[in-house]
Amino acid sequence: MLKGRRAVVTGSTSGIGLGIARALAAQGASVMLNGFGEPGAIDQLRTGLARDYGGEVFYNGADLSQAGQCEDLVADAEARMGGVDILVNNAGIQHVAPVEAFPVERWDAVIAVNLSSAFHTIRRVLPGMKARGWGRVINIASVHGLVASVNKAAYVAAKHGIVGLTKVVALENAETAITCNAICPGWVLTPLVQAQVAARAAAGNIPLDQAERDLLAEKQPTARFTTVEQLGALASFLASDAAANITGAALPVDGGWLAR
Ligand code: NAD
Repeated sequence: MLKGRRAVVTGSTSGIGLGIARALAAQGASVMLNGFGEPGAIDQLRTGLARDYGGEVFYNGADLSQAGQCEDLVADAEARMGGVDILVNNAGIQHVAPVEAFPVERWDAVIAVNLSSAFHTIRRVLPGMKARGWGRVINIASVHGLVASVNKAAYVAAKHGIVGLTKVVALENAETAITCNAICPGWVLTPLVQAQVAARAAAGNIPLDQAERDLLAEKQPTARFTTVEQLGALASFLASDAAANITGAALPVDGGWLAR
């Protein structure tokens, strides 16, 4: 479905980004991975994906809290892959605290990684996509791009921001073959959420599996986590020609969270 397409997936050394990179590679796309981690483990991921799916897989370790490194990531992808057809802005971090106790440095970091990095990569990929007349931008937002929860001021602000950015990019390119959409997952059991489960277990002095059940029960009516494979399948669909007229959308994959 995506043979010949070249994809960059930010924050793809773990969790949702890795699931999406795997799904795009499985559909035949070349992929550039990005994110932090131990070099040996990242190289295993890279060679494993190339071996499993037969496509080219690259890695760039840009720190996306830095505008210049966001631009360098795209420049490197264009140099090594010949262009970027699919951009998935997925890298994200979390910090949990009430507003009055929220460290200013954490606010700046969450906004930089979860919101500003997407502006910098999109700004840099669009000229190439326009020149080639085709492109897909997929931003991994969150249900927190559409509703709020307590203690997540920076995350909720960044995710609402990325939903807004998605709409503007969609409108500015509406008459081209470039689409821009946001995926809005509810709870997905990745390291980002495992940290929140562990904090909940510690605070309530309860076992981890009970903390997981409580976390789901509070927000996600299906009481099941969304999986990275489900998000990979949706990203692959959005990248396909079948999704050519879906643009500017914010698509929840949230087990009914927003239906309440
Ligand atoms: P994760 O912690 O498993 O992965 C985050 C990835 O981002 C890692 O590869 C990490 O190395 C990378 N990263 C972090 N800071 C970076 C930086 N400065 N520069 C480059 N890479 C950086 O988290 P995840 O749960 O897979 O989250 C991925 C995205 O999905 C995030 O944007 C998150 O907000 C969003 N999301 C997650 C959930 C969930 O329940 N897990 C729900 C909704 C949205």
